[in-house]
Order: sequence, then structure tokens, then C-alpha cells
Amino acid sequence: MIDRATLAARDAADPLAPFRDRFTLPEGVIYLDGNSLGALPRATPERVAQVVTQEWGTSLIRAWNAHGWIDLAQRVGEKIGRLIGAAPGSTIVADSTSINLFKLLGAALAARPGRHTILTETGNFPTDLYVADGLTRLLGRGHQVRAVDDPVAALDDDVAVLMLTHVNYRTGAMHDMASISRAAHAAGALVLWDLSHSVGAVPLALAADGADLAVGCGYKFLNGGPGAPAFLSVSPALQADLRLPITGWLGHAAPFDFAPDFRPAGGVAAAVVGTPPVLSLAALEVGVDLMLEAPMPALREKSLRLGESFLALMDALPGFVPITPRDTTRASQVAFRHPDGYAIMQALIARGIIGDFRAPDILRFGLAPLYLRHVDVWDAVAALRDIMRSGAWRDAAFQHRQAVT
Ligand SMILES: *Cc1c(COP(=O)(O)O)cnc(C)c1O
Repeated sequence: MIDRATLAARDAADPLAPFRDRFTLPEGVIYLDGNSLGALPRATPERVAQVVTQEWGTSLIRAWNAHGWIDLAQRVGEKIGRLIGAAPGSTIVADSTSINLFKLLGAALAARPGRHTILTETGNFPTDLYVADGLTRLLGRGHQVRAVDDPVAALDDDVAVLMLTHVNYRTGAMHDMASISRAAHAAGALVLWDLSHSVGAVPLALAADGADLAVGCGYKFLNGGPGAPAFLSVSPALQADLRLPITGWLGHAAPFDFAPDFRPAGGVAAAVVGTPPVLSLAALEVGVDLMLEAPMPALREKSLRLGESFLALMDALPGFVPITPRDTTRASQVAFRHPDGYAIMQALIARGIIGDFRAPDILRFGLAPLYLRHVDVWDAVAALRDIMRSGAWRDAAFQHRQAVT
């Protein structure tokens, strides 16, 4: 059995330990929800204040040129491209993950005329399914969304695009991007990866692994702040003839010509539709810069260690059924089923141990290696043990289901 002293020794030797101080974390809180809303980097408030008071406040509209606002979506996108191992010039920041899914799924269907299926897996994140469904209905050309348990086995010559979330939001299980992308290509399909629970959490090599299209979230492991803009990535081979279902003036080759006809900007820049949210982008850039400073091998090693301790400590707690893989197909979160999961999570949160709950019965704990300590895992499980022994979770205050779980 792991003891707390062993974990404290790991913290003392942790090469990533200094990163914890780069975040503002409230006293007495163990934050296990960085996979849903990342913590606040210390540098973010000052940077956002600077953009507001100096750049906006004094430069006014001149800031678009003087402070490079007009290139911000490309600049931050390029940095995210490095985090995900995408080819240079293939990643931009824009809109939300849901909207970017719509844009790239539309482009994927246009790139595979004659094929009618968007193939995905059962249990994919709901927005991915809803967006795909809405797009096919809008097109009205007989496209269908097929969600199956084993999408690779279901690949056939009607599949235009295989749309998968790389890391499952419930279980934390991770797909093998290289082999699945190869299988999709062998069937003549494109592959679109949702990296929302992957970016900043696990090593990614989109270009080497043959990913065609990707989207992902800015507010989870990238620590970009609530509602941070998302990103999208298009492999160089697909950029020349990218037919997007929504084209706007800032995706035009020369927006300030104000020409009546749309002429796409070169490459992925055509996927910028409208004016980017500059304040949110400035906050996101701080999170991305911080992530770029951290060596990914150390991050991955620590994340696996945190998960391993969590799973091992939970084995001693009856009633919790782990749904997270124990091997290296695990990403950076652990999850357990328990029929009273909601109330138990509320009781934990009341003690400052913040994870989240996913219907119908899943307690989910994100493990953000930049700011978590190994002892945090021990302390979280100790609190959970105490809540179960004392029955504290039965308190009426913990039974009421709030809007966000
Ligand atoms: C968090 C998440 C999203 C979020 O989409 P938004 O449009 O930013 O709300 C999308 N897909 C997956 C897989 C996610 O985990």
C-alpha cells in the first residue's frame, strides 16, 4: 500500500513542482477538475488587465495593428500546433469546439462527395454527436451519423469521416491515433480528432500520426479560462481545397478589400470566420505559453503516476468501480462509478476537494500535473474514505442536483 510519506518524497523530487507556483490556487483546495476548467495562471490577470487598459484603453482601434490583435488567432494557434504536433501553419484559434466541429465536419463531407456517413463511437461527447446530427439535417442530402461501439470495424466505403474524441470524457481512455487514422485512410475516409481532453494532458503528434482534422478546447488542460476560444487544425494536404460550410470576412484573403465575393485566405486561415475574442485570446495565450514551458515527457510521467496512485488507493474503498484503464492507454483523469456518486462528490467539494460528476453515476477526477502534488491524491482519497465511513454524504444538503454537475 502506498503511504503518504512516499508521495511526499515524490513531490520533493518532482521536476514539475515549481510550476505549481505559477498558478493561483485557493487555500485549502485540492483541485481535481482541471480537465473541465483549468486553474488560473498567476500571469493571466495582469496580462488581461494590460490588454484592456493599455492596448484597448489607449491604442483603441490602432491596437489591431500596433499590438498584433489581427494575428492573434494565428499566433496562438501556431503555439497550440506545437503542443499537438501539427505541421506548421495548420492550426488556428477560433470560436468554440462545437462550432469548429461543425466547420470541419462540413469541410470533410465536402471533401468526400459520394460518401454519406459520419462514423463515430457510442459514448462520444454529446456536443460532437449533436453537431454532426444538426449538420446532416441542414445539408439534407442523405448524410447520416452512425455511432457504434467499434468504429474501426465499421469503416466502409460510405464513411466520409471518422469523428472521434481522442480521450473519452468519462473514462479517460485514450485511442491510438496512429493506427486508427491509418485504418480510416485505408477505407478512404478522413479522420477528425476532438482533442479536448488530450491537449496539454498527453503527448500528441498529429502530423506523424496522420490526423486530417482536429478540434480542441482552450479552457481545460490549456488553462485558458472559462469559455476560452477553441482551436482547429487542418493537415496541409487538405488546406488547398478546404470547403468550409461557413465563410466570413476574416477568413478572406484580403478582408480589408471589402470585396463582394469570398476568396479564402491561404491555408487554415480561411477557417477564421469573424472577429476573434481578443481578451479571451490574450488569457488563452498565457495558459498555452505556460504549457509550452513544461517538458511533455515529465508531464506525462507525472500524470501517469498520479493516476496510478489514485487507482491503487481507491482499490481499498468498497463500492467504487473504476472505469479508467490502468495501463498507458489512460490519459490524465480517473473515474469511478458509484450509485450515490452525485451526493458523494458534493460532500467532497464541501471539503475543498473539487472533482465533478457525470451522469448517471460517475465521479471524475482530473489530474493536472502542472499544479497537482502527489500528496494531493493521498489527501483526496483519505477525505473520500472519511466521507464514506462517517456517512457525511447522506446530508440533505448534498442531494440537490445543481445545473452544472
Ligand atoms: C469540453 C468538450 C467540448 C466543449 O465544447 P464547447 O463547444 O467548447 O462547449 C467538446 N468536445 C469534447 C470532447 C469536450 O470534452
